[in-house]
Amino acid sequence: MPGLDLAGKVALITGSSRGIGKAIATRLAEHGASVVLNGRSASAALQRLEETLRSEYGVECRTVAADVGDNAQVSGMFRTVFKTFGRLDVLVNNAGVLQEALIGMISGEQIRETFATNVSGTLSCMQAGARLLQRSGGGSIINMTSIVGARGNRGQLAYSASKGAVIAATLSAAKELAPTGIRVNAIAPGYIDTEMMSGVPVKTHESLIASIGMGRMGSTEDVADVALFLASPLSRYVTGQVIGVDGGWVI
Ligand code: NDP
Repeated sequence: MPGLDLAGKVALITGSSRGIGKAIATRLAEHGASVVLNGRSASAALQRLEETLRSEYGVECRTVAADVGDNAQVSGMFRTVFKTFGRLDVLVNNAGVLQEALIGMISGEQIRETFATNVSGTLSCMQAGARLLQRSGGGSIINMTSIVGARGNRGQLAYSASKGAVIAATLSAAKELAPTGIRVNAIAPGYIDTEMMSGVPVKTHESLIASIGMGRMGSTEDVADVALFLASPLSRYVTGQVIGVDGGWVI
């Protein structure tokens, strides 16, 4: 489909060693984008993905290890992107952590870690990324929030607050950056089959599935296809939106 052709575009996907980030990196590479993969370390998983994307889709691919919660590492990552590719067209702020705990049981460290990755990480990458996107004449920023960022959830005080912050940041950035040709949108996944959700107890899993209209967990590809749309020119007039990908969980 011509509107989905990303040849000549460069995309950075944070937290792409597994789960949703990996699926997004794969989808964008499949459509011709050069991709920059990221995780806290240059893991074997990232190395394997890099090789697979290169050999299966013939695209340029580079891993840049960086903890998005560390400003200096984020600056270094964007410098490497610029040195390697000379441009950036798509930034997917996907890296995220979830540490569940009931109110009164959440440690200060858990709150700090959650906000460092989910909020500071997203904001730092948006700042450094926007400069590169602007040099490329515009582009697309896609932030990964969650339905709990708008709805809240039991046991997820810090996580839901961090994802609410991502929604607010998306709206502010969309307003500020629209004149520069940079679109900023968020994806709010529901219950997606990844390692992050692997510890959900069977009873909770069953009740979650029962409350999802489509009666199933989402796949990482369900989310990646929406990211592909937001990365592509098909969404050229779409900015400041939070798109739910939850199978009818929240209507
Ligand atoms: P996973 O736990 O499977 O993957 C998380 C990814 O983020 C990994 O690649 C991990 O890499 C990376 N990561 C974590 N912390 C950092 C950091 N500080 N710096 C750089 N990379 C980091 O999660 P999912 O794929 O399930 O989630 C992806 C995003 O989607 C998250 O933002 C999550 O909050 C959101 N989401 C997920 C939902 C779901 O149901 N799964 C629902 C709603 C939202 P490494 O460990 O190699 O550093």
